[in-house]
Amino acid sequence: MVAYNKRYVAVLIVVLSLAISYLHYSTIKEEHALHSIYSELYYIPILLGALIFGLRGAILTYLFVSIIYLPIVFTSWTSTILFDKILHVVFSGVIAFLAGFLVDRENKLRKQAEKDRYLAGVGRVSTVIVHDLKNPLTAILGFAKRIKEGKGTPATAAETIIDSAREMEKIVYDVLDFSKPANLTFAEEDMRTIVSRACNSCMAKAEGVGIKLSIHLPADPINAFIDSSHIERSLVNLLNNAIEASAKDQDVAIGVTSEKGNAVVTIKDKGTGMDKKTIENLFTPFYTKKKTGTGLGMAIAKKIIDGHHGEIHIASQPDMGTEVTIALPLHVRVS
Ligand code: ADP
Ligand code: MG
Repeated sequence: MVAYNKRYVAVLIVVLSLAISYLHYSTIKEEHALHSIYSELYYIPILLGALIFGLRGAILTYLFVSIIYLPIVFTSWTSTILFDKILHVVFSGVIAFLAGFLVDRENKLRKQAEKDRYLAGVGRVSTVIVHDLKNPLTAILGFAKRIKEGKGTPATAAETIIDSAREMEKIVYDVLDFSKPANLTFAEEDMRTIVSRACNSCMAKAEGVGIKLSIHLPADPINAFIDSSHIERSLVNLLNNAIEASAKDQDVAIGVTSEKGNAVVTIKDKGTGMDKKTIENLFTPFYTKKKTGTGLGMAIAKKIIDGHHGEIHIASQPDMGTEVTIALPLHVRVS
């Protein structure tokens, strides 16, 4: 939703009402063709009040407009148009009430729908997390038991245990990243190193499903003031999505360049791409189209990039692929 300062809207409503009154009072019906139209313009601040502030705003604006309008009613006291004027006041009251009531109801329904979706998401994600933790946990228990019983090679067992624990650590970090406000620790780092590390973490997964993961780095360092482990995690999330969206033998490419005071990272795939609805919901927590997805990867990546005063941009078309661009300011010292 567009962010606006409600105080400015309140001032706008008052100014608009006064301006309409000026037009209305400074003209007379017999000489000015637009005089009657001006009185209809009072509906604009009333509807604006309803739209932005709900029922309370609509009623307050209506009262304000009615007070300004009152002298007209009194000056018409003896004339035949008195009935018209009173009818105008009553009509605007009814419209203010209806508009405010509808806006309030709409807001209430929207909040309830958001809450329902959030709770459904929490439930689904808990199931996915438990499911994702179960496999490495079983591996750890199994291999620890083998070591205890003196079966197999302890080194191989220890390696599997470490890999499984890392897998579990990643899930725990994802959940923590999402649930806590990002606690970032900034230091000067070469973005080429971070991009390489993210790429290396995803290499095995890409090769496992027959995807060619390529990396494009410039010769000179790109030093940025960042939280390297968080940036690496958001790049890993984006690379994982690119890999998961691609089919066997397709390419996924990651690269970094320095452009106009920003480190610009691009992640390109030629996979499924996204339709408009998916792009709109991409950063909504728990939004996923995967059977075992958490829908947190993009939300976490965005949170981390926002914490660096950076920007993320998505260009995607169904069946054509996706290009994610991240711009991180090089010289901003975030505290
Ligand atoms: P998850 O990967 O757990 O589903 P994410 O937040 O990482 O959650 O992604 C949300 C959804 O956005 C995915 O389910 C997928 O539909 C879509 N998506 C993200 N990145 C891509 C991509 N590179 N190509 C196609 N779809 C994508
Ligand atoms: Mg993901």
